[in-house]
Amino acid sequence: MIWDTHAHLDDPVYLEDFDEVAVRMKAAGISRVTNVGYDFLSSKRSIKLAEDYDFIYAAIGIHPHNAVEATDEIWAKLLLLAKQPKVLAWGEIGLDYYRDLSPRATQKEVFIQQIKLANEVDLPIVIHNRDAHQDILQIVKAHPPRCGGVFHCYSGSWEMAKVLLNLGFYLSFAGPVTYKNARHTVEVAVHAPLDRILVETDSPYLTPEPRRGKRNEPTYVQEVVKKLAELKNLSFEDIAHQTMCNAETIFKNTTSL
Ligand SMILES: [Zn+2]
Repeated sequence: MIWDTHAHLDDPVYLEDFDEVAVRMKAAGISRVTNVGYDFLSSKRSIKLAEDYDFIYAAIGIHPHNAVEATDEIWAKLLLLAKQPKVLAWGEIGLDYYRDLSPRATQKEVFIQQIKLANEVDLPIVIHNRDAHQDILQIVKAHPPRCGGVFHCYSGSWEMAKVLLNLGFYLSFAGPVTYKNARHTVEVAVHAPLDRILVETDSPYLTPEPRRGKRNEPTYVQEVVKKLAELKNLSFEDIAHQTMCNAETIFKNTTSL
């Protein structure tokens, strides 16, 4: 049993064959998927999927790309969504200085605001960080998430990972750990303690090898598990089981697990 802790199955690329994607993943032993919102509508769609499919759980939040859309009205609406039974986390939230689609000052403000809201409703946070390592670190130190958090598709150095692990964060690995140029990520995967790692696909993006470049889907989280098993000298089953237990620990704030 494997938990794909980060996917966007509400993406239109699954409109035509969603049921086949679900059948494949179940046959492959992927028993849970967290569908992650990036704005108000995708957060609502994540909850709808969680209502329709027993194996889907939801995270809700405003991605840094969409930070300019955040208003008091949106916060009030998200707080209501956060209380739905299958909502496990507040995310994805954070900073993205690679694409800079919202002004950095706004990104920071919206990130801090959402840590506060997550603390209010007792949810862990799911963090997106692209080229913003120092500012992310500064913010999570100044505004610690009360129920902890996950760095999704962790891409930083082992040096930064050590600081984050000391602060109690989990590190989630996705397709990039299978890529040839993944030196940093591989180093982090080798050293990260077993009880603090998660696996994900970020479907439909970041497809692992050997399918890199094609559409991703939860089934392929197997490649991430396989890679971590190889790097840590453990069996596929060990990594699957351990990452499932870890996900249950961090996403425990729900009555539905
Ligand atoms: Zn994502």
